[in-house]
Amino acid sequence: MTQKTTTYFEDLDLSEDILDALWDMHFEKCTPVQAGCIPEILNGKDIIGIAQTGTGKTAAYLLPILTLLAEEPHEADAVNCLIMAPTRELAQQIDQALQGFSYYTGINGIAVYGGNDGVRFEQEHRSFQQGADIVIATPGRLITHMQLGNLDLSRTTHLILDEADRMLDMGFIDDIKTILKQLPEKRQVIMFSATMPEEIDKMAKEFMHNPAEVRIAVSKPAEKIDQSIYICHDGDKTPIVKHIFADTKPERVIIFASSKMRVKELNIILKRKGFNCEAMHSDLDQKDRDRVMLAFKQGKVDMLIATDIVSRGIDIDDIQMVINYDCPRDPEDYVHRIGRTARAGRTGRAITLVGEKDMFPLRKIEKLLEEKLPRNPLPEGCKEPEPEVKAKPKSKPNSKSNRRPANRGKKPTPKPQK
Ligand code: AMP
Repeated sequence: MTQKTTTYFEDLDLSEDILDALWDMHFEKCTPVQAGCIPEILNGKDIIGIAQTGTGKTAAYLLPILTLLAEEPHEADAVNCLIMAPTRELAQQIDQALQGFSYYTGINGIAVYGGNDGVRFEQEHRSFQQGADIVIATPGRLITHMQLGNLDLSRTTHLILDEADRMLDMGFIDDIKTILKQLPEKRQVIMFSATMPEEIDKMAKEFMHNPAEVRIAVSKPAEKIDQSIYICHDGDKTPIVKHIFADTKPERVIIFASSKMRVKELNIILKRKGFNCEAMHSDLDQKDRDRVMLAFKQGKVDMLIATDIVSRGIDIDDIQMVINYDCPRDPEDYVHRIGRTARAGRTGRAITLVGEKDMFPLRKIEKLLEEKLPRNPLPEGCKEPEPEVKAKPKSKPNSKSNRRPANRGKKPTPKPQK
């Protein structure tokens, strides 16, 4: 459903402390998913939000949950709210958003994800014992803590599953069900998912009470993305990348490739060709992932070469170009990948290199987009693939206002201690 009228955060029953934080952050108008979810969550309803990253879904659940936690009596030594996210990067990003929104509230949160050292693990354990108001966790790490008896969820009254379909893809569905079973009977469950596979639907029916559905089902990329493709031989892909940057220096570029191996190889090849690039994939340990992401965010690295680990949930606003070195197999992934650019009203380019093996995925993408993507002419020296590679494959493909007073009259209170 499209939201016609503008909803302002001030019109919603959010706590004053949160409105102050939103004011500081220049958040004034709700996005549609926020306008749809916030009142329902404030009313204590279970929610299924069908929305992807970039729609403002994080604030859609954090703002009302923070209001509920601030205004309802809750237990000081309990984990009152658990947020589950499929990847460390998304968990960190939710944590950052939480720190902004909760600035004036005194509500504390902790992000809990794998790949850290033993000291961090102990710190997490202590936070659980002392009662972290909000725990943001990846499923694997949370299960480890639960198995060691470190975490008591019997008093956790709010659970949020962010990117539930991604957690399903990553094989975490049973872990999530185990976690859901630990919660008290009286609890609020909020689930966000870009798609609604049958398994997720079943889980919702089993564990949620009469959920309200808020659907922002726009599986379409932002209009401000200038999309185009090269139809080429696989072996010509690297010269084409070079050609793309023949006249312009690459800046804030993400190149997606289909596997860790391809990412690693491409990183070496492009480095040899003089590009300032770094690889990002799940074989990197947490420290290296953080280092690479920070260097990229700070502009010390021009190009990030990545697997789909970066395609969803990563909040870097000023990506200028996305290159799909390989066509994603799933058209939804195409939308997620290119959605890294043209965020927050900016423009951006998305270029997809379509090799011999990419023709069928391209067809699926064009079907989803309901348009043919513009073809770029090949650079000199690259040959057009034979027409038969464009033919349908014989074998069956794999299924798959300044409204608020200028001065709120409040001085920042010291940031709550964790
Ligand atoms: P998300 O979909 O939660 O990852 O949010 C995408 C981006 O939009 C983040 O950078 C948010 O800080 C930003 N954002 C979310 N809601 C609003 C809003 N109502 N006004 C301005 N920016 C927003």
